[in-house]
Amino acid sequence: MQHQHKPRVIIVGAGFAGIFAARELAGGPCDVLIIDRNNAHTFLPLLYQVATAAVESEHIAAPVRGIIRALGRRAANLDFLMAEVKNVDFDARLFLAQGQDGDILSLPYDYLLLAPGSVTNTFGVPGADQYAFSLKNLEEAVRLRNHILRSFEAAAWTRDPSTRLNHLCFIVVGGGPTGVELAGAMAELMTGALRRDFPRLGLSRPCVTLLEAGDGLLPGFPDSLRAYAQKKLQRMGVEVRLKAQVSRVFPKGVELKDGTVFHAATTVWTAGVKGEPVAARLGLPQAPNGQVLALPTLQSRDYPEVFLAGDICRAEYQGRPLPMFGPPAIQEGRHAAANILRLIRRQDPQPFRYFDKGMMATIGKRAAVAKLGPLHLKGLPAWLLWLAVHLTYLIGFRNRLFVLANWAVDYFLSERVVRLITRQNPQE
Ligand SMILES: Cc1cc2nc3c(=O)[nH]c(=O)nc-3n(C[C@H](O)[C@H](O)[C@H](O)COP(=O)(O)OP(=O)(O)OC[C@H]3O[C@@H](n4cnc5c(N)ncnc54)[C@H](O)[C@@H]3O)c2cc1C
Repeated sequence: MQHQHKPRVIIVGAGFAGIFAARELAGGPCDVLIIDRNNAHTFLPLLYQVATAAVESEHIAAPVRGIIRALGRRAANLDFLMAEVKNVDFDARLFLAQGQDGDILSLPYDYLLLAPGSVTNTFGVPGADQYAFSLKNLEEAVRLRNHILRSFEAAAWTRDPSTRLNHLCFIVVGGGPTGVELAGAMAELMTGALRRDFPRLGLSRPCVTLLEAGDGLLPGFPDSLRAYAQKKLQRMGVEVRLKAQVSRVFPKGVELKDGTVFHAATTVWTAGVKGEPVAARLGLPQAPNGQVLALPTLQSRDYPEVFLAGDICRAEYQGRPLPMFGPPAIQEGRHAAANILRLIRRQDPQPFRYFDKGMMATIGKRAAVAKLGPLHLKGLPAWLLWLAVHLTYLIGFRNRLFVLANWAVDYFLSERVVRLITRQNPQE
C-alpha cells in the first residue's frame, strides 16, 4: 500500500488486545486512534472481586488517556476517542463512530484493528437474559455487589424462614474459571464479613450452589487440579452439582433439564461468552460463537488492512481455536500491531504463533490451581503465583497498591472493604 500521508491506524477496544497493540505501535511510523465506548481499560479477571466486595471498581480500571500518558513522549502518535462503533465502510476505509455529543464521526483509516472483546452467551436459555446476572463489565459487577448486599439487608428483616433463606442463597451457573472463582469468593464473603455484619441471621455455612453442565469443573485443566478445585469448594461449603444443565431461569431460581429446581434470589450466569455483536453488524464472516474468522496473520479474510485480536478473533493454533482468555488477547494484540508495522514497511505479514504460558484459577484464600506446561500447582504455591500474575498485569501502580492493600485486609482480617450499596440509577 502506498501512503501519501502518515498511515492512520484505528484500534477498536481498549481491552487487553487493544492496549497491548497500542503499546506496540507507540513511537511507530503511524498515527494511532484508540476507540472505546468507555474511557477506561478494565481488568476483567478481577471483576468477581468487585462483585464480592473485595476490591473497589476504580482500582481494577485505568483511564485510557492515563495509559497513553504513562508511555511518555514516544506515545505522541497515540490518541483516544470515547465513542461507540456505528459502522465501517470497508471499501472506502471509513470508520463511523458515535461520539459523546451524539454526532457521527467519519474517520478515514489505512489499517483497522478490531478488538471489541466478547459478551455473555446464555445460549437462548429461557429467562437467563432477564433474570440472571452477568459479569462482563464494571457496571455489571457493581450491580451484582449491590444486589448481594441488598439481599442480605432484606433477609435481616424477613420473618418468613423460606423467604429469608431465598434471599441468602446464590446460584452460579458455569464451572469454568469465572464460576469457580465467584462461587469461592461468595462463600468466603458469606462466612466472613457478612456473617459478622448480620449476627442475627446466624449464618453457619454459605448457601452457594455451583451448577456445571459437564462432568467436572474447570474444563481444560488437568484432572488432578479439577478434582482439587471441586473438593476445596465443597469444603468451603459450596454445593457443586455436575451434569446439571440449566433449562430455565426464573426470578427466584433455576430449573435443570431433568426437572430439578433450585431456589435462590440471585443467579449469576458465567457459563459462556460469544464474540461482541458488533462483528455481526459489520458483516464480517463469523464462527458460530460470534467470533470473526481470521487468517493466520490475524488479517480479516476479506480485507487485508483489517486485523482482529482478542476474544473477537477466531485464530487457530495447532488446529484448535484459542480460548477467550487474557494471554491470547495480549499476544494477538501485539502480533497484529507488529504485522501492521510490517505492512507499513512493505514487508510481508507473519503468521501468529501462540506461546502457551499456562492457565490458573483461584478458589479461595491460599487455594488456587495453575498449569504451567508440565508443572501442575495447587494450594498455596498456585495462589501466590495467581496473586503475582494478577498484580503484574493490572495496569497502574496506584491500582496495584490499593488492590494489594485490600487483599491484605481480606487475608488477615477476613474483612471485605467495599460493603457499600451504591445507586447506579434512580430505579435501583
Ligand atoms: C469475569 C471475567 C473473568 C475473567 N478471568 C480471566 C482470567 O482469570 N484469566 C484470563 O486469562 N482471562 C480471564 N478472562 C477473560 C479475559 O478477560 C478476556 O479474554 C480478555 O479481556 C479479552 O480481551 P479483549 O481485548 O479481546 O476484550 P476486552 O478486554 O473485553 O476489551 C474489549 C473492549 O472493547 C470495548 N468495546 C466493545 N464493543 C465496543 C463498541 N461497539 N464500541 C466501542 N468500544 C467497544 C469494550 O468497552 C472493552 O473496553 C475473564 C473474563 C471475565 C469477563
